[in-house]
Amino acid sequence: MPVTEFELIQRYFSREGQPRSDVVLGIGDDAALLNPPAGQQLVIAIDTLVQGVHFPANTLPYGIGWKALAVNLSDLAAMGAEPAWFTLALTLPESSEAWLTEFSRGLFDLANQYGLSLVGGDTTRGPLTVTVQIAGYVPTGQALLRAGAGPGDRVFVTGSLGDATLALQLLTGQLPVPAQNYPGLLKRLNQPQPRIEEGRALGGIASCAIDISDGLLADLQHMLDASDVGAEIYLPQIPYSTKARQLLNRYPDIRNSLLSGGDDYELCFCVAPDKLQRLEQIAAENQFQFTEIGQVSDTKELRCLDAAGQVVEIGTRGYTHFAKDR
Ligand code: ADP
Ligand code: MG
Repeated sequence: MPVTEFELIQRYFSREGQPRSDVVLGIGDDAALLNPPAGQQLVIAIDTLVQGVHFPANTLPYGIGWKALAVNLSDLAAMGAEPAWFTLALTLPESSEAWLTEFSRGLFDLANQYGLSLVGGDTTRGPLTVTVQIAGYVPTGQALLRAGAGPGDRVFVTGSLGDATLALQLLTGQLPVPAQNYPGLLKRLNQPQPRIEEGRALGGIASCAIDISDGLLADLQHMLDASDVGAEIYLPQIPYSTKARQLLNRYPDIRNSLLSGGDDYELCFCVAPDKLQRLEQIAAENQFQFTEIGQVSDTKELRCLDAAGQVVEIGTRGYTHFAKDR
């Protein structure tokens, strides 16, 4: 049964989890009214998912709802921010109740993990497109930027890399293994877990940070460019999940794709030598998984080294929507 726009907003998007004291007025008026706390800076990010571009047409609506918010949370994580509210611009080909039920369930399952409020949005008809704008706070002057790395800083990543891009390769038949044998990889593609706690804890410790959405090498390069430095990355130290390692052992050719495929939503950050002890401390206290993968150099070049210390050329560096050769 199709629902009207008004019913749709009421039924699927007007349910708050825990009401927030900083939301004066949420959904229902012409605009939302919010009270940002004193002494904090507002941090805002926006990201769009387009069917067929950011997710395959047969992606389950639960995962679309989850991921639309997750990719935005990941940007706030990379700034070291605490997320607070979000808005949703939804373009739908039809108002299917079954689809909306699952989409909003995925969206709110993640929103409720962080006590986020959906405070407004827009609903239109057209090809399936989901835009989430997110807002949060960071103590004034404490945000983690892409610029700030200095020579001698160590380069770290959170979690493990490549699972999501492997899942996509399984789904599209690029690897001759049934995708359903790898539910863990599929979950990392459809339900990435943003590194909010890690990002917030890195304030005052990391010299810079970025979230990995377009592949490690591409996003690391952005951070190095912003910091006007280079880096050496030790390929044997890159963290992979057990499943990714199994596939890598069987199909060694996929290694480059793990570093240049996208959708990891891990953080990459740098830490100056005098802050390494504090980093170890917060990692131990919070059971954060941080892996050192290299070191910042003053060469302005990004070089990948193998176990023997030899430079390895890695081709494609990340996904781009408007590359010259596409
Ligand atoms: P207006 O015509 O004044 O722009 P709308 O009819 O677009 O108002 O929206 C009415 C209310 O519902 C607003 O508070 C708006 O933020 C909210 N809203 C509309 N679509 C969504 C959505 N997809 N998710 C959350 N809130 C929405
Ligand atoms: Mg409107």
